[in-house]
Amino acid sequence: MSTTVTLPTFLSKLNSRQEVAEGTMVFRFEKPAGWAFKPGQFVDMTLLDPLETDSEGNTRTFSIASAPHEETLMVATRMRDTAFKRVLRAMPLATTVKIEGPFGTLILQNNAARAAVLLAGGIGITPFRSMLVHAANATLSHRMFLFYSNRRPEDAPFLDELQALEGKHQHYTLIATMTEMEKSHRPWHGEMGQISKEILSRYLKDALSPSYHIAGPPGMVKGLHTMLTEIGVDDADIRAEEFAGY
Ligand SMILES: Cc1cc2nc3c(=O)[nH]c(=O)nc-3n(C[C@H](O)[C@H](O)[C@H](O)COP(=O)(O)OP(=O)(O)OC[C@H]3O[C@@H](n4cnc5c(N)ncnc54)[C@H](O)[C@@H]3O)c2cc1C
Repeated sequence: MSTTVTLPTFLSKLNSRQEVAEGTMVFRFEKPAGWAFKPGQFVDMTLLDPLETDSEGNTRTFSIASAPHEETLMVATRMRDTAFKRVLRAMPLATTVKIEGPFGTLILQNNAARAAVLLAGGIGITPFRSMLVHAANATLSHRMFLFYSNRRPEDAPFLDELQALEGKHQHYTLIATMTEMEKSHRPWHGEMGQISKEILSRYLKDALSPSYHIAGPPGMVKGLHTMLTEIGVDDADIRAEEFAGY
């Protein structure tokens, strides 16, 4: 006997879109009443009858960048020159897409006594923006550290918002780091270089039994996972999401 599993699916209209970093846009969609997700989860989005398509098809996976209490379902993406993203960028507001989900286990641990260490590379910030905005809104008591690596401030989605959030969320520390400041036109007084063992140990000295969450392009996620293993972090304390396709 076979069992059919029905995935949660709904149709949703595009409400707005906006640039949030160079070459990076957010898209806000209608959220159906009663649709629930946990910060850190993702959806599969399918374009319906798009004007063009290519061999990669009409569906992409996106982490949900909005928090559950926010009005819309927001995703953010690097606008590369692919058929899917050309359609997404140009389609009229109120165009309908199909959404399946939520999926995924990159969620905050229940135990608020443990520190949550969030490691993001570039667009990998999306699930963590959801978690941090939710944590501030729900006044969660988890100690949270966001290590956020980008080439330049110009490339870093939500950077200003994540900096401002430190003032609203007393248990949260942002450690943003830039790897190619020589190509930037903006001032930067924060950390430089990739997320390293040295940076982690400097900020996590007093972190209580941390659990680690990693998100970003596959190469970066693998690199950080290896680094955590080398410093003795148990695999059971690491949750990682590779943004396949980058
Ligand atoms: C769990 C999960 C969560 C994700 N969350 C997000 C998210 O929040 N935001 C997000 O943007 N993405 C996210 N992704 C990745 C996303 O699903 C897409 O794969 C990604 O955005 C790339 O889509 P694309 O249309 O640009 O490329 P695709 O058309 O899907 O092409 C992918 C392939 O073509 C290559 N390619 C395409 N264009 C270029 C280019 N300009 N330069 C070099 N190589 C190229 C890629 O290397 C890759 O091999 C997530 C993936 C997963 C699995």
